[in-house]
This record gives sequence, C-alpha cells and structure tokens, in this order.
Amino acid sequence: MSDAVILWFRQDLRIADNPALDAALQSRKRIIPLFILDDDSDGMRRLGAASRWWLHGGLAALAKSLEKCGSRLILRRGPADAVIDALLDETGATAIVWNRCYEPEAIARDRALKSRLKERGIAACSHQAALLFEPWTVKTQNGEPYRVYTPFWKACKAKADIAPPLPAPESLPAPAAWPTSETLEDWHLRPTQPDWAGGLRETWRPGEHGAQERLAAFLEEGLGTYADRRNRPDIAGTSRLSPHLHWGEIGPRQIWAAVEARRAAGDLAGREKQAETFLKEVVWREFSYHLLYHFPTLPESPLNPRFAAFPWGEDEKALAAWQAGRTGYPIVDAGMRQLWHTGWLHNRVRMIVASFLVKDLMLPWQAGEAWFWDTLVDADLANNAASWQWVAGCGADAAPYFRIFNPVLQGEKFDPDGTYVRHWVPELAGLPATDIHKPWTLPADRLDKAGIRLGETYPAPIVDHHAARHRALAAFETIKA
Ligand SMILES: Cc1cc2nc3c(=O)[nH]c(=O)nc-3n(C[C@H](O)[C@H](O)[C@H](O)COP(=O)(O)OP(=O)(O)OC[C@H]3O[C@@H](n4cnc5c(N)ncnc54)[C@H](O)[C@@H]3O)c2cc1C
Repeated sequence: MSDAVILWFRQDLRIADNPALDAALQSRKRIIPLFILDDDSDGMRRLGAASRWWLHGGLAALAKSLEKCGSRLILRRGPADAVIDALLDETGATAIVWNRCYEPEAIARDRALKSRLKERGIAACSHQAALLFEPWTVKTQNGEPYRVYTPFWKACKAKADIAPPLPAPESLPAPAAWPTSETLEDWHLRPTQPDWAGGLRETWRPGEHGAQERLAAFLEEGLGTYADRRNRPDIAGTSRLSPHLHWGEIGPRQIWAAVEARRAAGDLAGREKQAETFLKEVVWREFSYHLLYHFPTLPESPLNPRFAAFPWGEDEKALAAWQAGRTGYPIVDAGMRQLWHTGWLHNRVRMIVASFLVKDLMLPWQAGEAWFWDTLVDADLANNAASWQWVAGCGADAAPYFRIFNPVLQGEKFDPDGTYVRHWVPELAGLPATDIHKPWTLPADRLDKAGIRLGETYPAPIVDHHAARHRALAAFETIKA
C-alpha cells in the first residue's frame, strides 16, 4: 500500500458518515486529507464574515479529529484546480475523492476538474453526503422538477429508504511523507480589528463534536415538542443545527437515523407528529437544494419572472436602520440584533424581518439576502436564496406577495410575554407585554415611567405599517396584470 488518494474536504467537515472518506479507505491507498480556501476565484461567491469565523472553528475541529486517527489536514489556498495539480505533482497521488456540492459555480468547477483529471489519468470520484436525495432523482410524474413543497415532501417520503450512516474511522493510513500545509492562523478567517465575534463564541461550538452535542440536546429536550414550540423565538425550541448542516459537520442522514432510532425505541409515542414536523423542515432544506440545482439563477433572479419588473425602492438610510435593528418595530429590531450578536436568527423572526424589508420598506430581497449572507453563521446559498424569494412572493410555493405580516401582531402572537424583545432590545425592558410590541402608541407618561424617550432612547417607527402596506399592494398591482 504505497499509492495515495487525495481526500478533498469541502462542505463536509466531518469524519463520521463521510462517503468520500469511506471510499478513500476502501481504496486501500494512503490518504491525504485536503481543504482548499478557494473563495477568491472568479465566479465563486466570497464567504461572508460570519461564515469565515465559523470555518476557522470547523477546520480546527476537523484537523483535531484527523490527528486522532493518525492523519492530518493539509490546508492550501488558491484556485482549486491549480492547488490540486500542484498536490498531485508533489505527492504522486493517483486518485482524488470528494463529496458533492450543489452551488452552480461548484458544479461547473467540479465538472471541469473531473474531465481535466481524467485526461491526466487521475481517477476522480464524487459522493453524496450533504443531501438525503440527489436533486435530479426527485421528479414530478412529467419528469419536471418540483416547484411546490407538499408534493415534493410526499415524493421524498415515498423514496425514503435512507441508508444508515457510516461509522467514524479509528485510523487513516498516512502518506510516506506529508506535503506542506499552510496554517489556519495565516488565513485570517477570524476578525481581529475590531473583534466583533464575542457573541458568536458565546453561542456556538463549531465542529463535528459540537454538532453531535446539539443533536443530542435537541433529541432530549426539543424533538418531542418541536411542532408546538418551533414558532416561538422566546423559547429554544428548534435544533440550531443549521450552521453545522451547512458545513457538513453533521449530515441529514445522521439526523434522520437519530430521529428514527428514537421512534423505534418508543420514545416518541404519542408525539409522532412533532418528529414528522421536524423531518419536514429538514426536507425543506432538500427542497431549497432541488430548486437551486434546477434553477441556478435562484440567488440573483426571481423564479417568478413577473417580479423582474417589480418597482423596488432604494433607500440607504432605511436599509441601514434595518441592518442595525433600529426600525422602531420591536420584534424586527430584536431579530436584527440577535442576528448581529449571535450570527443566527429564529426562523419565524427571519420571516418577519424579511417581510418588513421587502414589503414595509419595499427594498429588494437581494439586499436582504446579501446582508444575511454576510452575517449568518448558517449562510447557505440554496436556503438563503430560496427563503428570501419565498418571503418576497417571487419564489417557489411562495407566500403570496399580498399577504403582508403585521409586525405588531406577529410580535404579540409569537412573543406573547415580550421576553424575546426584552432580551434583545433592553431599552424597552420596562414595558409590560401588552405594550412592548407597539411603544409608539403609548402616552408620554407611560413611556416616561418605563424610561423611554421615543426618537432618543429608542427610535420612532421609520415607516407607518398601514401606509407601507398600501404602498406595497399598489406596487404589486403594477406587475399583476
Ligand atoms: C429570509 C430567510 C433566510 C434564510 N436563510 C437561511 C440560510 O442562509 N441558511 C439556512 O440554513 N437556513 C436559512 N433559512 C431557513 C431557516 O430559517 C433556518 O434553516 C432555521 O431557522 C435554522 O434553525 P434550526 O437549525 O434551529 O432549524 P430547525 O427548525 O431545527 O430545522 C432543522 C433544519 O432543517 C432545515 N430547515 C429548517 N427550516 C427551514 C426552512 N424554512 N427552509 C430550509 N431549510 C430549513 C435547516 O437546515 C435546519 O437546521 C432562512 C429563512 C428565511 C425566512
């Protein structure tokens, strides 16, 4: 056994249930694990700041796991094809394996690479790790991609003969000599001046072990009540696995198997619906990837072409107020501040803040998508683009544009005690639940008593929701015809 295979890690930063790693082991060659930082190449979307922070932690954790197996993680920066060519030359490796990515630029890069490597006599093989169902295998009866979620879910469920996850290896055969590696510190993925990542460090533990801990805690405390509590941002009722899933520190097959194991053990008796609702959300992620694969312009252009003519506004000041959590609408501001502080935002509040941007402020969904891309630790091209289009009314199976969230009613319904707003907007903490979602409606003495001066300690609303609603509906009329 002297021949070597390159194991190219991308968005699969785990050693358990990693089909490419398993294929490398089965090849009985020596294994050279590699990660390439390739986000400055033409066509590849540059990682957002929060994603870069996460990636540092995810790679450090992966390197540790590999070291425990007697291996290493080789880090190289540059265009993937050039880095791989150089490493093949240096090591004499005769094969390369990776797990598939589904972003259009990644697909184009991998296709070109595969055919070039073939010419060079190098065996290149890709595997399925990130999804339960390959996007091209789920089709309508007419052989078309799905655009509506419920039939997509039913088609997935009918296919759901999901293989059990692969175990983590105990050791990996090392090459006779290790190629050189850059260092993570040299990549400067973490912010320094200023270091704004304190809230991220408090909230997250990137890496495969962090993911398994989250899953175990969720199975214990969240799964059995998921459907009842998933819409409440004031309760930690969801799994918070999204950044781990994005970076492949856990795979959907592992999640599916863990839920099924609970079911088989009888732990979900009488609560089957709760678990089914959770798996349905995991499959929404599959739906986003299905859409991105079949409609590769999803991150830039509306799926519904009528929306290309929508008269979006331009308002730098309003966009900045939304980004900073200073719109004067407490549930919106709480969400945007949670996002800034922790790099994550509850799904219900993502919908509320997104609706506020595209409907109340009438700013283009692409501006919101770009902000989320930079600030979310789970920033994901497929999920982010599909979800923004969904909220904006121009996506697949979208919320109709004319259904406009009222931020006061949303706050009162989903944060009924005001706990969430009080936590993220402490300047309103002195208000009771009955008033906290609409401080501008209170008389001066009540505001005074709570220590609030509107326009000074907390902003007055930057738009009037009812007027904004009419403006948005009138704009929608112009493209309806
Ligand atoms: C405007 C907007 C932008 C979004 N941007 C992203 C993004 O960049 N990255 C991202 O992962 N999710 C995004 N979402 C989807 C969703 O909000 C998050 O996946 C979810 O809040 C993550 O929290 P969780 O892990 O606790 O989810 P849970 O409720 O525990 O769900 C488990 C997993 O299922 C998947 N999932 C759950 N809800 C959805 C959904 N609505 N659509 C697609 N997949 C889902 C996620 O992978 C999630 O980790 C966005 C939603 C909106 C409305």
